[in-house]
Amino acid sequence: MIRAIYPGSFDPVTLGHLDIIERAAKTVDELIVGVLNNGGKTPMFSIDERVSMLEEVTEEIPNIKVLSFSGLLVDFAKQTGATTVVRGLRAISDFEYELQMAQTNRKMYPLLDTMFLATSLEYSYLSSTTVKEVAFFDGDIREFVPESVISKVQDRVRAAKQKGRT
Ligand code: ADP
Repeated sequence: MIRAIYPGSFDPVTLGHLDIIERAAKTVDELIVGVLNNGGKTPMFSIDERVSMLEEVTEEIPNIKVLSFSGLLVDFAKQTGATTVVRGLRAISDFEYELQMAQTNRKMYPLLDTMFLATSLEYSYLSSTTVKEVAFFDGDIREFVPESVISKVQDRVRAAKQKGRT
C-alpha cells in the first residue's frame, strides 16, 4: 500500500499541478495533496481557499485527500503514514533545489522517498506565479488553470487593484 504526499503552495492550483495529481494518483494507492501553510510571502489565497479549490478540481479522483500542513514535510509524512513524496520537475532549474530537498528529507526520515514526475510538455512553462502575473495585467488565464479557478483569480486581482486605488 503506497501512500504518497504531493506537497506545494498551490496558490492557485494550475493545470500543471492537476496533470501531476492525475498521473500520480494512477501510480500510488492513496495520494494526499498537502497544501503548505508556511508564513513566507503573502499568498493570493488563504489556506482554506486553496484546500477547497483543490478539493473541487480533484473531486472525481477517488484516491485523493486534500490536507493542509505547516512545518516540516517529514513531520507531516510521519503523521499521515506516507512514505513517498511526489514532486513535479519542469526544467533543469527545478532540479538542483528538488534534489537537495529530497536528500534532506531522506536524511531526516529515511523511510521517505521522493518520486519525480516530468511535467507534460504543454505545461512545462507554467507556474502559479506566472498565472498571477498574467491575470494582473488582464491576460487570458483560461489555458493555465482549471475552469473553476479562473474567476476566483480574476476576482482577487480586481479586488487588489481596487484596494490599490482607494
Ligand atoms: P512550491 O512552492 O513547493 O514549489 P508549487 O505549488 O509551486 O509549490 O509546486 C508544487 C509542485 O508542483 C512542485 O513539485 C513543482 O515543481 C510542481 N509544479 C508546479 N508547476 C508545475 C507544472 N507546470 N508542471 C509540473 N509540475 C509543476
